[in-house]
Amino acid sequence: MTDNGSEQGGFQSMTTQVEQAEAALRHVKPQVRSLGAYTLRPYEPRVKLNQNESPYDVPEALKRRITERLADRPWNRYPPFVASNFISAVSEATGWPEDGVLVANGSNELIQAFFAVVVEPGKVVVIPEPTFTLYRLMAEVNGGAVVSVPLDAELRFDVEAIIRAARESGSAIVVLCTPNNPTGSALTREEIERIHNSTDALVLLDQAYVEFGGYDAIPLLEERPRMVVLRTFSKAMALAGLRAGYLLGDPALVAEVNKAKLPYNVNFFTEVAAAEVLRGRELLEPQVEAMRRERDRLLAGLREIPGIRVFPSAANFVLFRVERDDLTHTEVFERLLGEHGILVRDVSKYPMLERCLRVNAGTPEETQGFLAALRSILTTG
Ligand code: PMP
Repeated sequence: MTDNGSEQGGFQSMTTQVEQAEAALRHVKPQVRSLGAYTLRPYEPRVKLNQNESPYDVPEALKRRITERLADRPWNRYPPFVASNFISAVSEATGWPEDGVLVANGSNELIQAFFAVVVEPGKVVVIPEPTFTLYRLMAEVNGGAVVSVPLDAELRFDVEAIIRAARESGSAIVVLCTPNNPTGSALTREEIERIHNSTDALVLLDQAYVEFGGYDAIPLLEERPRMVVLRTFSKAMALAGLRAGYLLGDPALVAEVNKAKLPYNVNFFTEVAAAEVLRGRELLEPQVEAMRRERDRLLAGLREIPGIRVFPSAANFVLFRVERDDLTHTEVFERLLGEHGILVRDVSKYPMLERCLRVNAGTPEETQGFLAALRSILTTG
């Protein structure tokens, strides 16, 4: 063995596997090591009301149109470098120019790209909480300083506190999820304008649930280059399984966010399906209408069950708190699943949401089944 070889061998033999693994982890950014991962426990329930998906598949006519187009195109070739078919469908649907549109494999990916481009160590990111946890995760992975602005006691946005927090930091990023996941609260047009106009912040509006209620902020983008809107196909558009989302903003800013996106991030299944679904969205409208109706039935039904506090919702889900001395939210969650096969989301670990569960609108049968199951759990104790 050469000197060089024996030196390397010596180093290897002097350190154990565990020590080497520790040495590898020392390269990971400290702010990442201190974070928890975004996780979801896998279940296989009979009724799934935990991820705010559409309970309805893409309508048959649209699905056929999509699969025919998929079959026609060779799969051995890369998708187009620019997903122009998807981008032009977004532009037609929103009226926003194509060079201000960024498309991706789910809006999560756009959150990641956006934060990678705008957050550097120490950058203030104002986040009203509780909200979707990915914003904090991505802000902290990039070294951002998260300033959390609590929702008020009714879980509504505290607009004045958001403005104050953004102003204090000079040049902040403000993330507004409206309607908000997991509370369902939404900002009005005036509130969004006020937050934007009273600060110098870059305002990210995540509107993943806007088809179900709340103000659609796309018209505000005009002449507001500090505002960005994010939308997903995973909820109202019934494409959670394919992963599609888009970001709208000023073309110059969009060109910068584009730099953090991987080439060919949108596979051609997604590109074809998202474009067809957008162009045929009138076929989806009855489904979206049905989800809004079921959301309202959930709200009304939950309000009639004693021992439950229900929060208003503009989204396709409803947040409620189990306020009983003899029954915990965990027992309610487990009995819904174990005795009725119904899976809801336990959001009790979010700030301010102790004892809270979130349930999304399903089919009419699912809503009815959920309400009956909850009623029976809460009346039998
Ligand atoms: N934003 C919010 C507020 C969400 O609730 C979700 C999904 N849970 C997403 C973004 C991510 O959506 P996508 O499936 O497009 O990545």
